[in-house]
Amino acid sequence: MTCPPPPSLRLHIDSDALAQNWRTLDAMSGAARAGAAVKADCYGLGVDRCLPVLHEAGCRDFFVAHWSEVPGVIAHVPAQRLSVLHGLLGADDVRFARETGVRPVIDSLRQARLWSEGGGGACDLMVDTGINRLGIAPAELADPSIQALEVRVLMSHLACADEDAAMNARQLAVFRDCIPAVAHEETSLANSAGVALGSDYAFDLTRPGLSLYGGIPRPELEDRIAQVAYPQAALIQVRDIAAGASVGYNATFTAGEDMRIGVVSLGYADGILRSWGGAHFTHGERRLPILGKVSMDMIVLDLSAAPELAEGDWLDLPYRLPDAAQQTTLSQYELLTVLGNRFG
Ligand SMILES: *Cc1c(COP(=O)(O)O)cnc(C)c1O
Repeated sequence: MTCPPPPSLRLHIDSDALAQNWRTLDAMSGAARAGAAVKADCYGLGVDRCLPVLHEAGCRDFFVAHWSEVPGVIAHVPAQRLSVLHGLLGADDVRFARETGVRPVIDSLRQARLWSEGGGGACDLMVDTGINRLGIAPAELADPSIQALEVRVLMSHLACADEDAAMNARQLAVFRDCIPAVAHEETSLANSAGVALGSDYAFDLTRPGLSLYGGIPRPELEDRIAQVAYPQAALIQVRDIAAGASVGYNATFTAGEDMRIGVVSLGYADGILRSWGGAHFTHGERRLPILGKVSMDMIVLDLSAAPELAEGDWLDLPYRLPDAAQQTTLSQYELLTVLGNRFG
């Protein structure tokens, strides 16, 4: 079959901004190297588009959550530089890890035994210093199953790095106490926000995700991190409606006067959730307010500010993450990962 025509919505990725964000985070990591969390298809922006850019910028250490994410990543970077954060559920995971050379992040004593019984090899080790999510307890570091591991990166994860919380220093202290307890090659603690907490938190390797893709979890990153993802959509219809006419499901908007409106072809199936109601698109400097409810595949706009726009013209949805988070009450993480797969 011939290729379908390009879709009428697209996600522009600013590759230069992505590369620059990694270099910024790498520089902010001081003596440590910055790696990259590339789970969830590079936070929704696309592994195929983002990974070559990150690799070219100099990034060499990558993290995903699931084994199913591995093939897409090792198509671009060496398997030996990839870790799977969720570790090992069963024998299939062990076999796949050993076949590919991708490292499991061991998260429990059961996983440690499973790995060693399956033949073992280089792995990473997550120690839980207080988030109470994944990882062994510090006291479990002495367990023979842990001592038997060939640990490349000893890591932990911060719960509150995006806040000035006392918990950050507490987790740092607990992590430091863990370091002498098991043999390892390198140490890693900081996510994006953790990088901004300063060099104490950087250790050998940092693991930013959000800020690579334009997220700003702390004020220290405000003027240093650039927007990467730009949703755009074409007008697929323009129409004139009379005063008193309503727009969209449940007729939640009623025109106070005759007006020109337009329909763009993206909606909540693409990740532009109903919480965008009341926001606006732009054409150049001009603001085009969203009218009524967001539909699954469409959003209706007030074209009063740009009445000459016609079907086929492209519009932008302002998507600077801190602003968009305020607008929608979604988190910056959600705003990225919710983006759908119909974008061209
Ligand atoms: C997702 C994740 C990261 C990246 O966190 P950001 O806040 O997106 O920078 C780092 N480490 C672990 C263990 C993670 O799960």
